[in-house]
Amino acid sequence: ASNSRQLHFIFFPQLAHGHLIPTVDTARLFAMHGVKATIVTTPLNALLFASKIQREKQLGFDISTMVIKFPASEVGLPEGCENVSSITSQEMTPKFLKAVTLFQQPLERILEELRPDCLVADWMFPWATDIAGKFGIPRLVFHGKSSFALCVADSLIRHEPFKKVSSESEAFDVPGLPDQITMTRLQLPDYIKDTAETDRKKLMDEAIKSELTSYGVIVNSFHELESAYTQHYSKVMGRKAWQVGPVSLCNRNNEDKAERGNAAFIDRDECLRWLDSKKPNSVLYICFGSIFRTSAAQLNEIAKGLEASGQDFIWVVRKVNDEDREEWLPEGFEERMEGKGLIIRGWAAQVLILDHEAVGGFMTHCGWNSTIESITAGVPMVTWPICAEQFCNEKLIAEVLKIGVGVGAKEWCRWGDDPSTKFKVTKEDIERAVSRVMVGEEAEEMRSRAKELKNMARKAVEEGGSSYSDLNALLDELRLNCP
Ligand code: UDP
Repeated sequence: ASNSRQLHFIFFPQLAHGHLIPTVDTARLFAMHGVKATIVTTPLNALLFASKIQREKQLGFDISTMVIKFPASEVGLPEGCENVSSITSQEMTPKFLKAVTLFQQPLERILEELRPDCLVADWMFPWATDIAGKFGIPRLVFHGKSSFALCVADSLIRHEPFKKVSSESEAFDVPGLPDQITMTRLQLPDYIKDTAETDRKKLMDEAIKSELTSYGVIVNSFHELESAYTQHYSKVMGRKAWQVGPVSLCNRNNEDKAERGNAAFIDRDECLRWLDSKKPNSVLYICFGSIFRTSAAQLNEIAKGLEASGQDFIWVVRKVNDEDREEWLPEGFEERMEGKGLIIRGWAAQVLILDHEAVGGFMTHCGWNSTIESITAGVPMVTWPICAEQFCNEKLIAEVLKIGVGVGAKEWCRWGDDPSTKFKVTKEDIERAVSRVMVGEEAEEMRSRAKELKNMARKAVEEGGSSYSDLNALLDELRLNCP
């Protein structure tokens, strides 16, 4: 085999938008670098990306999707529940997690038959390293997290600094990191701070083990963004990692940017026309990701905070309970906000919106995809972390990169929990954070830092840039090691 032979990669994403979107983008990015890319997923999830993959094929890229059955009846889930976003009650979560473990056999058969050069599987599939190993196929972990969050998690697990404090709200240092980072127990996931052997904790432990025995890790970030942490991750923690992001930059045109894993979105052109009528950096975009839903009481408070801030906004609303449709809005809100605010009920073309020059701020739950998409667009953030590693991402945004201001969210929530039962972010908190990000000298400073990062992001994925080179280095290494 020559050194320029085509490599075949299989991509196996977790079935949630926050994992599917960046994994599919990564697969496309690899295809653009000459790789044959096969994405393995279930029928309904494959449909989300079908036309996008079709367009890539027409452009001559070697990319395709392979469909496997979702074992809904085997675990007692209703047919059609194939994505985390269709989980509507707490009892469904363990069933869903059980269902995805049943992918081991079909994936193993595919590996045996296709014998790809590499398997890229989500970190939530720790068993993937072993099944790939059976056929001598290297497995790469796709994390979908920042290097910063990976470093913080490692320090927390290794040193357990949260055991040194006596109350949930007392701050402690996260030791051994390039910056001084302090956190509270309130901000930590229960699977990190609790000793109880829950399923979630078991999954985390297994994921760490499988990361250590895997070939390495693909990170959707770029060296210039968090260089101290990409280095810490490889040099101090000893992980083999390749920074290949921001992967969302593989979207070339409006069609690609708008169509990101959901067919139903507000008329793209209407949204763009509305933004076209606004001044640069004058609109705040508000969205809390693909899964999280907000209670009526908290939505009401957000509406009041937005109105008090006086800023124009695009607000993506996903409510806890869809029945009582509009009673969460303050009296007369929509009439007063006519022309000032656009409410999107459902799915927004987020990357397209963030890229518009009228957008000057993003109120986000700090999911890593949203965070890096905001950075890629040069947009500073109002941070409102809720679950997973989002409190870490808030630290990175507000304290390390200094391109955001927190609303003061205090407590980590479990998947599916309603955070407003634990505390409420008030109208005043919202107004204060929004104003700091949108207007004044501090806002200008954050915006100019964000724009610098945007430029660095674009350079990173261009020919010769750091992410471009990292990706090619990975491909060269695999060609050498797996002739
Ligand atoms: N997203 C979108 N439109 C929406 C909501 C979300 O395009 O209305 C996309 C967003 O651009 C991002 C992903 O869905 O790529 C959400 O991932 P993130 O990590 O931010 O949060 P999660 O949904 O995993 O909590």
